[in-house]
Amino acid sequence: MAQADVKKVSQLDVAPGELPKTMTAWVIRQDREGEPKDAFQIEDIEVPEPGAFEVIVRVMAAGVNFNNVWAALGEPVSVFRYHPEEDHHIGGSDASGVIWKVGEGVTKWKVGDEVVIHCNQASYEDVEVHGLDPLAAPSQKIWGYETSWGSFAQFTKVQAQQLVPKPQNLTWEEASSYGLTYFTAYRMLIDQVEMQAGHKVLIWGAAGGLGVFATQLAKLTGADSVGVVSSDQKGELVKQLGAKDFINRNEFAGMMRKGGESKEEEKERFAQSRAFAKRVKEILGDAPDIVFEHVGQATFPTSVFVVRPFGKVVICGATSGYNLDFDVRYLWMRQKQIIGSHFANAWEATKANELIAQSKIRPVLWRVMPFEGVAEAHQLMRENKHQGKISILVGADSEGQGKTAEGPGAIRAEVGN
Ligand code: NAP
Repeated sequence: MAQADVKKVSQLDVAPGELPKTMTAWVIRQDREGEPKDAFQIEDIEVPEPGAFEVIVRVMAAGVNFNNVWAALGEPVSVFRYHPEEDHHIGGSDASGVIWKVGEGVTKWKVGDEVVIHCNQASYEDVEVHGLDPLAAPSQKIWGYETSWGSFAQFTKVQAQQLVPKPQNLTWEEASSYGLTYFTAYRMLIDQVEMQAGHKVLIWGAAGGLGVFATQLAKLTGADSVGVVSSDQKGELVKQLGAKDFINRNEFAGMMRKGGESKEEEKERFAQSRAFAKRVKEILGDAPDIVFEHVGQATFPTSVFVVRPFGKVVICGATSGYNLDFDVRYLWMRQKQIIGSHFANAWEATKANELIAQSKIRPVLWRVMPFEGVAEAHQLMRENKHQGKISILVGADSEGQGKTAEGPGAIRAEVGN
Protein backbone atom coordinates (compact mmCIF):
# COMPACT_ATOMS: atom_id res chain seq x y z
CA MET A 1 0.00 0.00 0.00
CA ALA A 2 1.33 3.45 -0.96
CA GLN A 3 2.45 5.88 1.71
CA ALA A 4 0.58 9.17 1.49
CA ASP A 5 2.16 12.59 1.97
CA VAL A 6 0.10 13.90 4.84
CA LYS A 7 1.50 17.43 4.60
CA LYS A 8 -0.22 17.81 1.22
CA VAL A 9 -3.65 16.76 2.40
CA SER A 10 -5.04 20.28 1.93
CA GLN A 11 -3.73 20.48 -1.65
CA LEU A 12 -5.56 19.08 -4.68
CA ASP A 13 -4.47 19.04 -8.30
CA VAL A 14 -7.94 18.46 -9.75
CA ALA A 15 -10.67 20.99 -10.47
CA PRO A 16 -14.14 20.70 -8.88
CA GLY A 17 -16.14 18.12 -10.80
CA GLU A 18 -13.06 15.92 -11.36
CA LEU A 19 -11.80 13.30 -8.94
CA PRO A 20 -8.19 12.26 -8.48
CA LYS A 21 -7.40 8.54 -8.71
CA THR A 22 -6.39 8.25 -5.07
CA MET A 23 -6.72 10.22 -1.85
CA THR A 24 -5.09 10.36 1.56
CA ALA A 25 -7.20 8.71 4.25
CA TRP A 26 -6.99 7.42 7.80
CA VAL A 27 -7.87 3.74 7.54
CA ILE A 28 -8.75 0.97 9.98
CA ARG A 29 -8.29 -2.61 8.76
CA GLN A 30 -9.65 -5.71 10.45
CA ASP A 31 -6.23 -7.27 11.05
CA ARG A 32 -5.07 -4.28 13.10
CA GLU A 33 -8.18 -3.61 15.20
CA GLY A 34 -7.10 -2.55 18.68
CA GLU A 35 -5.93 0.64 20.38
CA PRO A 36 -6.79 3.67 18.19
CA LYS A 37 -3.13 4.76 18.02
CA ASP A 38 -2.31 1.49 16.19
CA ALA A 39 -5.58 0.73 14.42
CA PHE A 40 -5.73 4.03 12.52
CA GLN A 41 -3.09 4.35 9.80
CA ILE A 42 -2.70 6.72 6.88
CA GLU A 43 -3.02 5.14 3.44
CA ASP A 44 -3.65 6.06 -0.17
CA ILE A 45 -7.11 4.84 -1.13
CA GLU A 46 -8.92 4.96 -4.48
CA VAL A 47 -11.47 7.75 -4.65
CA PRO A 48 -14.99 6.36 -5.14
CA GLU A 49 -17.33 7.59 -7.88
CA PRO A 50 -20.73 8.85 -6.68
CA GLY A 51 -23.63 6.47 -7.35
CA ALA A 52 -27.21 7.55 -8.03
CA PHE A 53 -28.37 10.21 -5.55
CA GLU A 54 -24.86 10.27 -4.07
CA VAL A 55 -22.38 13.11 -3.77
CA ILE A 56 -18.60 13.26 -3.31
CA VAL A 57 -17.66 16.01 -0.86
CA ARG A 58 -14.18 17.41 -0.42
CA VAL A 59 -13.75 17.27 3.36
CA MET A 60 -12.54 20.60 4.78
CA ALA A 61 -12.77 19.55 8.44
CA ALA A 62 -13.97 16.45 10.30
CA GLY A 63 -15.46 16.01 13.76
CA VAL A 64 -14.33 13.29 16.18
CA ASN A 65 -16.88 11.08 17.94
CA PHE A 66 -16.73 8.09 20.27
CA ASN A 67 -18.14 5.73 17.63
CA ASN A 68 -14.78 5.41 15.88
CA VAL A 69 -13.07 4.51 19.13
CA TRP A 70 -15.33 1.44 18.99
CA ALA A 71 -14.49 1.02 15.29
CA ALA A 72 -10.76 1.01 16.09
CA LEU A 73 -11.17 -1.48 18.94
CA GLY A 74 -13.40 -3.77 16.89
CA GLU A 75 -15.79 -3.82 19.86
CA PRO A 76 -18.53 -4.62 20.68
CA VAL A 77 -18.54 -5.81 17.05
CA SER A 78 -16.16 -5.26 14.17
CA VAL A 79 -17.39 -2.56 11.78
CA PHE A 80 -16.45 -4.87 8.92
CA ARG A 81 -19.62 -6.79 9.77
CA TYR A 82 -21.57 -3.68 8.82
CA HIS A 83 -19.81 -3.13 5.50
CA PRO A 84 -18.31 -6.43 4.32
CA GLU A 85 -18.13 -5.04 0.78
CA GLU A 86 -15.05 -2.94 1.73
CA ASP A 87 -11.90 -4.28 3.39
CA HIS A 88 -11.03 -0.79 4.66
CA HIS A 89 -12.84 1.39 7.14
CA ILE A 90 -12.59 5.14 6.68
CA GLY A 91 -14.31 6.46 9.79
CA GLY A 92 -15.68 9.89 10.63
CA SER A 93 -19.37 10.75 11.10
CA ASP A 94 -19.12 14.55 11.09
CA ALA A 95 -17.80 16.86 8.37
CA SER A 96 -17.94 20.22 6.71
CA GLY A 97 -16.84 20.52 3.09
CA VAL A 98 -17.39 21.44 -0.53
CA ILE A 99 -19.38 19.37 -3.04
CA TRP A 100 -16.87 18.06 -5.59
CA LYS A 101 -18.94 15.73 -7.79
CA VAL A 102 -22.64 14.80 -7.91
CA GLY A 103 -24.12 11.48 -8.95
CA GLU A 104 -27.01 10.74 -11.26
CA GLY A 105 -30.36 12.09 -10.09
CA VAL A 106 -29.00 14.81 -7.78
CA THR A 107 -30.70 18.11 -8.62
CA LYS A 108 -30.86 20.01 -5.36
CA TRP A 109 -27.10 20.35 -4.86
CA LYS A 110 -24.31 21.35 -7.22
CA VAL A 111 -20.54 21.29 -7.40
CA GLY A 112 -19.10 24.07 -5.23
CA ASP A 113 -21.89 24.14 -2.62
CA GLU A 114 -20.60 24.38 0.94
CA VAL A 115 -22.17 21.82 3.23
CA VAL A 116 -22.35 20.11 6.59
CA ILE A 117 -23.09 16.37 6.57
CA HIS A 118 -25.52 14.56 8.85
CA CYS A 119 -24.68 10.93 9.46
CA ASN A 120 -27.90 9.03 8.80
CA GLN A 121 -28.11 6.87 5.69
CA ALA A 122 -30.98 4.73 4.46
CA SER A 123 -32.02 3.27 1.13
CA TYR A 124 -34.70 5.35 -0.57
CA GLU A 125 -36.34 2.09 -1.62
CA ASP A 126 -37.26 1.23 1.99
CA VAL A 127 -40.90 2.18 2.58
CA GLU A 128 -40.16 3.38 6.12
CA VAL A 129 -38.23 6.27 4.58
CA HIS A 130 -41.38 7.47 2.83
CA GLY A 131 -43.91 7.46 5.62
CA LEU A 132 -42.55 6.40 8.97
CA ASP A 133 -38.96 7.53 9.60
CA PRO A 134 -35.63 6.71 7.93
CA LEU A 135 -34.36 5.62 11.35
CA ALA A 136 -36.90 2.77 11.15
CA ALA A 137 -35.62 1.51 7.78
CA PRO A 138 -33.91 -1.91 7.70
CA SER A 139 -31.13 -0.34 5.59
CA GLN A 140 -30.48 2.46 8.14
CA LYS A 141 -26.78 2.97 8.90
CA ILE A 142 -24.59 5.60 10.52
CA TRP A 143 -22.22 6.97 7.86
CA GLY A 144 -18.56 6.77 8.85
CA TYR A 145 -19.25 4.05 11.40
CA GLU A 146 -21.53 1.43 9.92
CA THR A 147 -20.29 2.46 6.47
CA SER A 148 -16.82 3.21 5.17
CA TRP A 149 -16.09 6.42 3.19
CA GLY A 150 -16.37 8.64 6.30
CA SER A 151 -14.79 12.04 6.87
CA PHE A 152 -11.20 11.21 7.89
CA ALA A 153 -10.07 11.49 4.25
CA GLN A 154 -9.71 14.09 1.51
CA PHE A 155 -13.04 13.02 -0.02
CA THR A 156 -16.14 11.37 1.40
CA LYS A 157 -19.06 9.65 -0.30
CA VAL A 158 -22.53 10.46 1.05
CA GLN A 159 -26.20 10.35 0.09
CA ALA A 160 -27.51 13.71 -1.14
CA GLN A 161 -30.17 13.69 1.61
CA GLN A 162 -27.33 13.85 4.18
CA LEU A 163 -26.40 17.40 3.17
CA VAL A 164 -27.42 20.59 4.94
CA PRO A 165 -26.10 24.06 4.07
CA LYS A 166 -22.95 25.07 5.92
CA PRO A 167 -23.77 27.96 8.28
CA GLN A 168 -21.84 30.90 6.82
CA ASN A 169 -21.02 32.32 10.23
CA LEU A 170 -18.85 29.31 11.11
CA THR A 171 -15.31 28.29 10.19
CA TRP A 172 -14.76 24.87 8.63
CA GLU A 173 -13.65 23.36 11.95
CA GLU A 174 -16.60 24.81 13.84
CA ALA A 175 -19.04 23.57 11.19
CA SER A 176 -17.64 20.03 11.38
CA SER A 177 -18.00 19.77 15.13
CA TYR A 178 -21.66 19.58 16.01
CA GLY A 179 -23.80 17.42 13.67
CA LEU A 180 -23.82 14.02 15.33
CA THR A 181 -24.33 15.14 18.92
CA TYR A 182 -26.48 18.22 18.31
CA PHE A 183 -28.91 16.57 15.88
CA THR A 184 -29.24 13.65 18.33
CA ALA A 185 -30.04 16.00 21.23
CA TYR A 186 -32.51 17.92 19.03
CA ARG A 187 -34.53 14.80 18.16
CA MET A 188 -34.50 13.63 21.78
CA LEU A 189 -35.81 16.86 23.26
CA ILE A 190 -37.78 18.59 20.53
CA ASP A 191 -39.45 15.63 18.83
CA GLN A 192 -39.33 12.62 21.15
CA VAL A 193 -40.37 14.33 24.39
CA GLU A 194 -41.76 17.61 22.98
CA MET A 195 -39.95 19.89 25.41
CA GLN A 196 -41.88 23.11 26.01
CA ALA A 197 -41.46 26.46 27.73
CA GLY A 198 -41.81 25.96 31.48
CA HIS A 199 -40.66 22.34 31.46
CA LYS A 200 -38.02 21.36 33.97
CA VAL A 201 -35.18 19.26 32.60
CA LEU A 202 -32.37 17.26 34.22
CA ILE A 203 -29.35 16.82 31.90
CA TRP A 204 -26.65 14.25 32.66
CA GLY A 205 -23.15 14.98 31.30
CA ALA A 206 -24.28 18.54 30.57
CA ALA A 207 -20.79 19.73 29.52
CA GLY A 208 -20.30 16.72 27.18
CA GLY A 209 -20.93 16.38 23.45
CA LEU A 210 -24.69 15.88 23.77
CA GLY A 211 -25.13 17.87 26.97
CA VAL A 212 -23.91 21.24 25.70
CA PHE A 213 -26.65 21.15 23.06
CA ALA A 214 -29.36 19.78 25.36
CA THR A 215 -28.61 22.68 27.70
CA GLN A 216 -28.78 25.29 24.94
CA LEU A 217 -31.99 23.78 23.49
CA ALA A 218 -33.65 23.93 26.91
CA LYS A 219 -32.71 27.58 27.27
CA LEU A 220 -33.92 28.44 23.76
CA THR A 221 -37.24 26.67 24.36
CA GLY A 222 -37.83 28.41 27.67
CA ALA A 223 -37.37 25.28 29.76
CA ASP A 224 -35.40 25.36 33.02
CA SER A 225 -32.51 22.92 33.17
CA VAL A 226 -30.08 21.63 35.74
CA GLY A 227 -26.87 20.07 34.43
CA VAL A 228 -24.96 17.27 36.13
CA VAL A 229 -21.17 17.47 35.69
CA SER A 230 -18.01 16.18 37.35
CA SER A 231 -16.24 19.50 38.02
CA ASP A 232 -17.21 23.02 39.01
CA GLN A 233 -15.36 24.35 35.96
CA LYS A 234 -17.62 22.30 33.69
CA GLY A 235 -20.53 23.56 35.80
CA GLU A 236 -19.64 27.16 34.99
CA LEU A 237 -19.69 26.31 31.27
CA VAL A 238 -23.11 24.73 31.68
CA LYS A 239 -24.42 27.86 33.40
CA GLN A 240 -22.94 29.97 30.61
CA LEU A 241 -24.91 27.81 28.15
CA GLY A 242 -28.16 28.61 29.97
CA ALA A 243 -28.67 26.07 32.76
CA LYS A 244 -30.31 27.36 35.92
CA ASP A 245 -27.56 25.71 37.93
CA PHE A 246 -25.37 22.61 38.02
CA ILE A 247 -24.76 19.68 40.37
CA ASN A 248 -21.27 18.27 40.79
CA ARG A 249 -21.89 14.51 40.72
CA ASN A 250 -18.86 13.87 42.93
CA GLU A 251 -21.03 15.06 45.83
CA PHE A 252 -23.40 12.16 45.14
CA ALA A 253 -20.88 9.53 44.03
CA GLY A 254 -22.70 6.93 46.12
CA MET A 255 -25.85 7.10 43.95
CA MET A 256 -24.13 5.48 40.94
CA ARG A 257 -25.37 1.96 40.28
CA LYS A 258 -22.55 -0.50 39.65
CA GLY A 259 -24.63 -3.65 39.37
CA GLY A 260 -24.55 -6.59 41.77
CA GLU A 261 -25.05 -4.44 44.90
CA SER A 262 -26.17 -6.29 48.02
CA LYS A 263 -29.51 -5.35 49.59
CA GLU A 264 -27.73 -3.16 52.15
CA GLU A 265 -25.56 -1.48 49.52
CA GLU A 266 -28.59 -0.82 47.35
CA LYS A 267 -30.35 0.80 50.32
CA GLU A 268 -27.32 3.07 50.78
CA ARG A 269 -27.23 3.88 47.09
CA PHE A 270 -30.92 4.68 47.03
CA ALA A 271 -30.54 7.07 49.98
CA GLN A 272 -28.01 9.00 47.88
CA SER A 273 -30.38 9.04 44.90
CA ARG A 274 -33.04 10.48 47.19
CA ALA A 275 -30.67 13.23 48.39
CA PHE A 276 -29.77 13.98 44.77
CA ALA A 277 -33.47 14.20 43.82
CA LYS A 278 -33.98 16.66 46.65
CA ARG A 279 -31.16 18.86 45.33
CA VAL A 280 -32.63 18.72 41.82
CA LYS A 281 -36.01 19.85 43.20
CA GLU A 282 -34.38 22.70 45.12
CA ILE A 283 -32.77 24.01 41.96
CA LEU A 284 -35.72 23.51 39.57
CA GLY A 285 -38.50 24.24 42.07
CA ASP A 286 -40.02 20.80 41.43
CA ALA A 287 -39.12 17.36 40.05
CA PRO A 288 -38.07 17.37 36.37
CA ASP A 289 -40.60 16.71 33.60
CA ILE A 290 -37.78 15.36 31.43
CA VAL A 291 -34.53 13.53 32.17
CA PHE A 292 -31.93 13.55 29.35
CA GLU A 293 -30.12 10.18 29.60
CA HIS A 294 -27.08 8.69 27.87
CA VAL A 295 -24.97 7.52 30.83
CA GLY A 296 -26.94 4.29 31.30
CA GLN A 297 -26.28 1.76 34.05
CA ALA A 298 -24.77 4.15 36.64
CA THR A 299 -27.51 6.78 36.51
CA PHE A 300 -30.63 5.10 35.12
CA PRO A 301 -32.22 4.03 38.45
CA THR A 302 -31.84 7.64 39.64
CA SER A 303 -33.30 8.98 36.38
CA VAL A 304 -36.44 6.86 36.71
CA PHE A 305 -36.79 7.78 40.38
CA VAL A 306 -36.18 11.53 40.03
CA VAL A 307 -38.46 12.26 37.04
CA ARG A 308 -41.89 13.54 38.06
CA PRO A 309 -45.06 11.40 37.85
CA PHE A 310 -46.06 11.12 34.17
CA GLY A 311 -42.60 12.49 33.30
CA LYS A 312 -40.28 11.17 30.57
CA VAL A 313 -36.77 9.74 30.56
CA VAL A 314 -35.32 9.95 27.05
CA ILE A 315 -32.20 7.83 26.39
CA CYS A 316 -29.79 7.49 23.44
CA GLY A 317 -26.71 5.83 24.91
CA ALA A 318 -25.14 4.00 27.83
CA THR A 319 -21.55 5.11 28.38
CA SER A 320 -21.32 3.41 31.79
CA GLY A 321 -22.93 0.12 30.73
CA TYR A 322 -25.98 -1.01 28.80
CA ASN A 323 -27.51 -3.53 31.17
CA LEU A 324 -29.88 -1.24 33.05
CA ASP A 325 -31.82 -2.17 36.15
CA PHE A 326 -34.08 -0.01 38.22
CA ASP A 327 -37.01 -0.23 40.61
CA VAL A 328 -39.89 -0.53 38.16
CA ARG A 329 -42.50 0.37 40.80
CA TYR A 330 -41.51 4.02 40.37
CA LEU A 331 -42.26 3.65 36.68
CA TRP A 332 -45.68 2.07 36.76
CA MET A 333 -47.12 3.52 39.96
CA ARG A 334 -46.22 7.03 38.81
CA GLN A 335 -46.92 6.37 35.14
CA LYS A 336 -43.55 7.52 33.87
CA GLN A 337 -42.25 6.85 30.38
CA ILE A 338 -38.87 5.68 29.01
CA ILE A 339 -38.24 6.69 25.42
CA GLY A 340 -35.38 5.40 23.26
CA SER A 341 -33.90 7.70 20.64
CA HIS A 342 -31.24 7.34 17.96
CA PHE A 343 -29.61 10.14 15.93
CA ALA A 344 -32.01 12.21 13.76
CA ASN A 345 -33.64 12.25 10.34
CA ALA A 346 -32.84 14.73 7.55
CA TRP A 347 -35.76 16.99 8.46
CA GLU A 348 -34.63 17.24 12.08
CA ALA A 349 -31.02 17.83 11.01
CA THR A 350 -32.17 20.61 8.68
CA LYS A 351 -34.36 22.34 11.27
CA ALA A 352 -31.66 22.04 13.93
CA ASN A 353 -29.04 23.38 11.53
CA GLU A 354 -31.11 26.51 10.90
CA LEU A 355 -30.79 27.38 14.59
CA ILE A 356 -27.00 27.20 14.24
CA ALA A 357 -27.09 29.41 11.13
CA GLN A 358 -29.12 31.92 13.18
CA SER A 359 -26.59 31.71 16.07
CA LYS A 360 -29.42 30.66 18.41
CA ILE A 361 -27.47 27.48 19.15
CA ARG A 362 -23.67 27.55 19.07
CA PRO A 363 -21.12 24.77 18.65
CA VAL A 364 -18.85 24.21 21.63
CA LEU A 365 -15.32 23.32 20.58
CA TRP A 366 -12.46 22.18 22.78
CA ARG A 367 -9.56 21.49 20.41
CA VAL A 368 -8.63 21.66 16.72
CA MET A 369 -5.96 19.26 15.44
CA PRO A 370 -4.21 18.86 12.09
CA PHE A 371 -4.97 15.85 9.88
CA GLU A 372 -2.07 13.98 11.51
CA GLY A 373 -4.03 14.04 14.81
CA VAL A 374 -6.84 11.57 13.98
CA ALA A 375 -5.35 8.54 15.77
CA GLU A 376 -4.22 10.64 18.73
CA ALA A 377 -7.66 12.29 19.06
CA HIS A 378 -9.34 8.89 19.27
CA GLN A 379 -6.74 7.64 21.73
CA LEU A 380 -7.45 10.69 23.94
CA MET A 381 -11.15 9.79 23.85
CA ARG A 382 -10.42 6.15 24.55
CA GLU A 383 -8.48 7.18 27.67
CA ASN A 384 -11.12 9.77 28.61
CA LYS A 385 -8.50 12.53 28.47
CA HIS A 386 -10.58 14.65 26.10
CA GLN A 387 -12.61 17.45 27.59
CA GLY A 388 -14.95 18.39 24.79
CA LYS A 389 -15.34 18.30 21.05
CA ILE A 390 -12.29 17.82 18.82
CA SER A 391 -12.20 18.88 15.16
CA ILE A 392 -9.63 17.77 12.57
CA LEU A 393 -8.45 20.03 9.75
CA VAL A 394 -8.45 18.23 6.40
CA GLY A 395 -8.88 20.50 3.34
CA ALA A 396 -8.50 23.60 5.50
CA ASP A 397 -4.80 24.18 6.17
CA SER A 398 -5.31 26.40 9.20
CA GLU A 399 -7.98 27.39 11.69
CA GLY A 400 -10.36 30.25 10.99
CA GLN A 401 -11.04 29.58 7.30
CA GLY A 402 -14.46 29.23 5.67
CA LYS A 403 -16.36 31.87 7.62
CA THR A 404 -18.14 34.15 5.15
CA ALA A 405 -20.66 35.97 7.35
CA GLU A 406 -20.57 37.79 10.65
CA GLY A 407 -21.64 35.83 13.70
CA PRO A 408 -20.35 34.74 17.08
CA GLY A 409 -19.12 31.32 15.90
CA ALA A 410 -18.36 28.53 18.33
CA ILE A 411 -17.91 28.78 22.07
CA ARG A 412 -14.35 27.69 22.86
CA ALA A 413 -14.51 25.54 25.97
CA GLU A 414 -11.53 25.48 28.29
CA VAL A 415 -12.94 22.93 30.67
CA GLY A 416 -10.96 20.77 33.04
CA ASN A 417 -11.81 17.59 34.88
P1 NAP B 1 -19.06 12.79 25.97
O1 NAP B 1 -18.68 14.03 25.24
O2 NAP B 1 -18.00 11.88 26.48
O3 NAP B 1 -20.01 13.27 27.18
C1 NAP B 1 -20.65 12.37 28.05
C2 NAP B 1 -20.66 12.92 29.47
O4 NAP B 1 -21.30 11.98 30.31
C3 NAP B 1 -19.26 13.12 30.02
O5 NAP B 1 -18.82 14.43 29.74
C4 NAP B 1 -19.46 12.89 31.51
O6 NAP B 1 -19.69 14.15 32.10
C5 NAP B 1 -20.75 12.09 31.61
N1 NAP B 1 -20.46 10.77 32.16
C6 NAP B 1 -19.62 9.84 31.66
N2 NAP B 1 -19.60 8.77 32.46
C7 NAP B 1 -20.44 9.04 33.49
C8 NAP B 1 -20.86 8.31 34.66
N3 NAP B 1 -20.37 7.12 34.92
N4 NAP B 1 -21.75 8.90 35.45
C9 NAP B 1 -22.25 10.12 35.19
N5 NAP B 1 -21.89 10.87 34.12
C10 NAP B 1 -21.00 10.31 33.29
O7 NAP B 1 -20.03 11.87 25.09
P2 NAP B 1 -21.30 12.29 24.20
O8 NAP B 1 -20.84 12.61 22.83
O9 NAP B 1 -22.14 13.27 24.93
O10 NAP B 1 -22.07 10.89 24.13
C11 NAP B 1 -22.58 10.30 25.31
C12 NAP B 1 -23.09 8.90 25.00
O11 NAP B 1 -24.18 8.97 24.08
C13 NAP B 1 -22.05 7.97 24.38
O12 NAP B 1 -22.21 6.69 24.94
C14 NAP B 1 -22.40 7.96 22.91
O13 NAP B 1 -22.02 6.78 22.26
C15 NAP B 1 -23.92 8.13 22.97
N6 NAP B 1 -24.48 8.78 21.77
C16 NAP B 1 -25.49 8.16 21.10
C17 NAP B 1 -26.04 8.76 19.98
C18 NAP B 1 -27.17 8.10 19.24
O14 NAP B 1 -27.56 8.57 18.19
N7 NAP B 1 -27.72 7.02 19.72
C19 NAP B 1 -25.56 9.99 19.53
C20 NAP B 1 -24.54 10.61 20.25
C21 NAP B 1 -24.00 9.99 21.37
P3 NAP B 1 -19.20 14.52 33.59
O15 NAP B 1 -17.95 13.71 33.85
O16 NAP B 1 -18.95 15.99 33.54
O17 NAP B 1 -20.34 14.15 34.47
